[in-house]
Amino acid sequence: MISVEEALEKVLSHVKVLGPEEKPILDCLEQVLAEDVYSPIDIPPLDNSAMDGYALRAEDTRGASKSSPRYLVVVGEIAAGSMPAKEVRPGTAIRIMTGAPLPEGADAVVRFEDTDEVSRKLSGGDLSHIGILCQAKKGLDVRCRGEDIAKGDLILKKGKVLRPQEIGVLASLGQSTAVVVRRPIVAILATGDELTGVDQPLASGKIHDSNTYTIAAEVSRYGGIPKILGIGRDSVQSLTEKIKEGLDADMLITSGGVSKGDYDIVKDVLAAHGEVGFWTVCMKPGKPLAFGLMKKTEGRSEKKVPHLGLPGNPVSSMVTFEQFARPAILKMMGKEMLAKPAIRAIIEDDVVNTDGRRIFARVNVTRRGGQYYASVTGPQGSGILTSMAKANGLAVISENSKGVKAGDMVEVQMLDWGGEQGEAKTLPIISIVGKSQSGKTVLMEKLIVEFKIRRYKVAALKHSRGGMEIDRPGKDSWRFAQAGSEAVLISSPDKLAFIKSVDHDLDIEEILPTFGSEFDLVLAEGFRKSKNPKIEVHRKELGDDLLCSPEELSAIVTDGPLDIDVAQLPWGDTVAVADFIEKNFLRTVN
Ligand code: AMP
Ligand code: MG
Repeated sequence: MISVEEALEKVLSHVKVLGPEEKPILDCLEQVLAEDVYSPIDIPPLDNSAMDGYALRAEDTRGASKSSPRYLVVVGEIAAGSMPAKEVRPGTAIRIMTGAPLPEGADAVVRFEDTDEVSRKLSGGDLSHIGILCQAKKGLDVRCRGEDIAKGDLILKKGKVLRPQEIGVLASLGQSTAVVVRRPIVAILATGDELTGVDQPLASGKIHDSNTYTIAAEVSRYGGIPKILGIGRDSVQSLTEKIKEGLDADMLITSGGVSKGDYDIVKDVLAAHGEVGFWTVCMKPGKPLAFGLMKKTEGRSEKKVPHLGLPGNPVSSMVTFEQFARPAILKMMGKEMLAKPAIRAIIEDDVVNTDGRRIFARVNVTRRGGQYYASVTGPQGSGILTSMAKANGLAVISENSKGVKAGDMVEVQMLDWGGEQGEAKTLPIISIVGKSQSGKTVLMEKLIVEFKIRRYKVAALKHSRGGMEIDRPGKDSWRFAQAGSEAVLISSPDKLAFIKSVDHDLDIEEILPTFGSEFDLVLAEGFRKSKNPKIEVHRKELGDDLLCSPEELSAIVTDGPLDIDVAQLPWGDTVAVADFIEKNFLRTVN
């Protein structure tokens, strides 16, 4: 028996990233860019106004206020899409709409609300002049040429998966097509004398072929193009003919015929046309699996088409598809994230493991009170496809365990979770910031305890201005670093420490990969410049001002309410802070 990992590694070692194709951007959704995209233009192409208002010279507004307006002569108006006909000379202004090019001479825009335009109109006054009610700085509400994208900039890198936003970016560059890794064509063949087409009446002893449809739908879901070959009968001739029809595809998937009964026919056919291995994979459902390379001669050259032979039982074929065919299709499409999105959940039923295989139990995951729960979807026979239809995940139970008991924590591969983007489990990172003595370390400590109680796996991140206690001179790790090792990893039976020399103060994004992906939440102390959600701890006695501006904060934890528009949580109430984090940042699944 080989492990799931070994089987996957073998499959992946035989599939390659496919070649490029150029096509209209709207047809490229979820495909991978095959070349870098540089901008042929500046965006925006000209300096323009970010507001509806008046384009003017900032110096003409010096000292302006509501009580002492500065009056300017209005010399024209510019709408978005047209070019200014006049320039702004000292003492003048031009009425301007959002997106309209900034006229020559102007260096700022004052929005309507900061002028007397409305009161002038109401009092029937003329608009040949305008009163400016605030002092403008140079550049106020001006969007500069090339501010978003500069001509020649590398905008999208090869390897990027195109989502609607990237397709929009391509359109903004004036690119109507993109060069992407092409989608694999996957030929699908069901085998078995008992199978009847979906639109045929059932004779006695027969069943409808459902695998073709499940597999074709999965191929489409993950970005491939299914090519349905139909039903092959359990005879050498029938199978040989059908398989030939599939050899112009990029991959061939068959179902059935790999278990003991019809093993020999399939084995003979496959062996005659390629190199095929029959494996017993340490998993349940899905133990028998075939994999090989089918040969196709094209003139003088010989092409090899990867062939994956899935078991016939409908649940087994689907579970093995998810484990082996899906990653192969994603790899051919040039994707790098091949693992299924996974979460940790409390299992609500016992699952026994009698024969030391990895169990993929069909479960339905729900979220209650900040925790995921997984309940098994009824009888788990590998022929019961409705157990799959009721499931939104596969709970993974180790081959090295005797099973799990209700209440145990398990990993669940989510079947439905945001399609391809959901693959990387995004790890929520919350920074706890605050002045020194505000109590942020205490809050961190209490939150860690609280989330532990709520069964989250928490990692803590601490920014230290000075050196590090663990990196003491004289220690072996220190000596290795002195000798020139860029990174030192010290491992012991119960701890792992990683010390790496860095040439700048890293931000959270740079540090995060060293954590790995096993955590549910990262709590960071400090890192006030990071773009991750931040909660500031504030104490009245340290002054009313905050370290961060209100727009940067998700909440403040304070012992004296402040008159600002940010969620405020009571200082000392860890449960309230944990509830806030859980509700706002820890993801939900239905
Ligand atoms: P096999 O692997 O061919 O021995 O098939 C195992 C079980 O799966 C048998 O009960 C088959 O009838 C069933 N099965 C095989 N292929 C299909 C299919 N395409 N659709 C539905 N059930 C199938
Ligand atoms: Mg069969």
